[in-house]
Amino acid sequence: MTTMQDTQALVGRGNREGAALFRDWFAELDTTAKSGGDAAYVFVMGSINEILKTFDLPVVFPEINSLQTAVRRVAHEYLEEAEDYGYSPDICGYVKADVGTQLRGGEHPMGQIPKPTITVLTNACNTYIKWAEIWERMHGTPTFTIDIPGTRQEGLITLPGQRDFDADRKYVEVQLRELITMCEEITGTKFDMDRFKEVLGYANTMSRSWNRILELNAASPSLFNALTDGTIYLGVANGLRGTKEGAEYFERLVEEMEYKAANGIGQTIEEEYRLLFVGVPCYPIFRRFNELFTDWGGTFVNSTYLWFASGGTNRGFEYDLDNPIESLAEGVLISVRDAMDSMFHQNAVLADMANDFDIDGIIYHPIKSCRTVSTGLADGRKHMSEQLGIPSLFIESDMMDRRVVSEAQMKNRIDAFFEGLASRRQQELTEPKVR
Ligand code: SF4
Repeated sequence: MTTMQDTQALVGRGNREGAALFRDWFAELDTTAKSGGDAAYVFVMGSINEILKTFDLPVVFPEINSLQTAVRRVAHEYLEEAEDYGYSPDICGYVKADVGTQLRGGEHPMGQIPKPTITVLTNACNTYIKWAEIWERMHGTPTFTIDIPGTRQEGLITLPGQRDFDADRKYVEVQLRELITMCEEITGTKFDMDRFKEVLGYANTMSRSWNRILELNAASPSLFNALTDGTIYLGVANGLRGTKEGAEYFERLVEEMEYKAANGIGQTIEEEYRLLFVGVPCYPIFRRFNELFTDWGGTFVNSTYLWFASGGTNRGFEYDLDNPIESLAEGVLISVRDAMDSMFHQNAVLADMANDFDIDGIIYHPIKSCRTVSTGLADGRKHMSEQLGIPSLFIESDMMDRRVVSEAQMKNRIDAFFEGLASRRQQELTEPKVR
């Protein structure tokens, strides 16, 4: 039997605890920066936290630092500093906010950000490679780039046991072994296999839980907002990956979601329209952006963002602790490839999501400063409308730059979209069924 006390303790717990862990993580970075300690700069699509945490290296995600400047409404200051320094208004806003942070000696609304001792990146976004070169120039930071073979053609995904997959897995494994050697040299610490397995175990719990949480949101009403709540969960999924705290957090989040599902407790609004979100959120007006949909009873039940910005951990891949390095290579290949697929080959993924989550519409949000995510969205939308008849909305703005965010224009388009959904629903109710 459930009680009012259970509900009060459980519902919203993930948001409260996630925000606290997020603050703790930044407090640790602040302490590291002030003491001049080591830190690894990484990216959300293939952070390789599993190796870095084995060496107890604090991890910095510059993408997350940058989006935090937008959420806290100071991104324009950082962007302008980077543009004054010489960076083009056209390039990725995350890069420019980070350049602004570096120029300020790490000063950031969440605390001071330490300088990088090592940068680890994958080829999941071409910008990562040029971004790391900035730190090489600014700080002389050694960079380790891991080349992850992507899907060659939509629908043709290689699987473990197939020759091509095994060759790709081996290719990733060789690179991971080189990274371990580099970390040993930089930290002066021998790689500890037992510690590594412990980290992998925590990462397994997080992946399994994240996969379950996403699956549970197919409930009606949906349990959490993929845009707003989801961003809090993503912060922990990235920053605390491979840690005991991260694993416990996600186990508790599953408990909360299962409780909500069992008791029919949905989001904070009455769910009228279930939506999918494609792209990166509009962080400069994050709360308002979400309200433009929730005011109509629109709820975001899933998004491609929750997939690629978790580095593909949505797949729920679990490492084999008896073959840790080989299994890490397999997991990195599967997860990062999946993250890339959810940006570059997303039609099939969206069609599945639309079906599994009983979707009323898809919101495409291409953004000026991220071509990686935005290129091809117009074609994708055309395909989804023509082939599957799913209503969709295409609105453009930015994830960082408030100069290209027009709230009034977006509101007009969003209102018209919901009016269309309402009349479509009305028509479905009144039209006689064809037998
Ligand atoms: S994926 Fe987009 S936002 Fe992220 S680093 Fe690449 S260009 Fe920037």
